[in-house]
Amino acid sequence: MSYRQRKPHKAVAFTAALTIGLLVGGVLGSHILNKAPEPGSEAAGNDRITAESWTSSLSDGDWQVSLSAEVRSLLTLTGAGTTRRADLVDNNPAAGLTAAGSSPMIHTELGAALWSNCTEIRIARHVDDAIVDPTSALSAIDEAISRLSELTGLNLVTGGDSRGDTTDLITPERDTIQIAWVPEGSSHLEDDELGAAEVWHIADARGIPTIVRARVFLSAEILADYSFGPAGGGVNVETAILHELAHAVGIGHSVDGDSFMHAELGSHAETTTTDLATLAFAGGRSC
Ligand SMILES: [Zn+2]
Repeated sequence: MSYRQRKPHKAVAFTAALTIGLLVGGVLGSHILNKAPEPGSEAAGNDRITAESWTSSLSDGDWQVSLSAEVRSLLTLTGAGTTRRADLVDNNPAAGLTAAGSSPMIHTELGAALWSNCTEIRIARHVDDAIVDPTSALSAIDEAISRLSELTGLNLVTGGDSRGDTTDLITPERDTIQIAWVPEGSSHLEDDELGAAEVWHIADARGIPTIVRARVFLSAEILADYSFGPAGGGVNVETAILHELAHAVGIGHSVDGDSFMHAELGSHAETTTTDLATLAFAGGRSC
């Protein structure tokens, strides 16, 4: 049994407002979650309580990237270079992430759904014929992939690119993240969506949720609205892609308005300490 979750990414004018939609396959049927509240509102403050929270898994903590003292502190890790935080449960990275306002795409009592870091994850890029500058569109994906790999330590391997009509795309193969640049008006996105990410996960033999395939849709509107720049370093095309790719590795939204994982890409979209900790966590799921 595999389950699928989707997060659409909506744009209002130049900023990206977002509605969280949850589509769960299999016997659970489907339903829609709440609309994302305006940043700073009371509802936004409650969001981290009502939304998905990080939970611990026995397989988590196999860090693939080096952790700064600041990140170790946020993850409540003891040891060299760690500052204890009295308000957090010691040595509970999942609780530390939740306290910092980060969230997973989906979780069970046995942990958040993440990729195994033993898996070679294939990146399959598709560019619709309607994309005017496919070379730039592909290189922006590469920049975001490179950043994602650097910050998670996940083994992301590009290959299997195609150009053509993206109306009918096959379900991504196992161990694959499919990324598709689609034209404005594509049936894959609602009118006001800039992008969307879908994640499929299974329960392993121990019941721990593990992501086995994912798909990201990117609207040509991203290329029209944003300029190019560093992924996770400001509001730009690469950051918009990195946002969706972070969903593809199991990361949900951050309540921090400065984070590139905030539901809306406003005037700030930086890679915060919480984001660094979350990305490291997302790559810390052993086999
Ligand atoms: Zn999002």
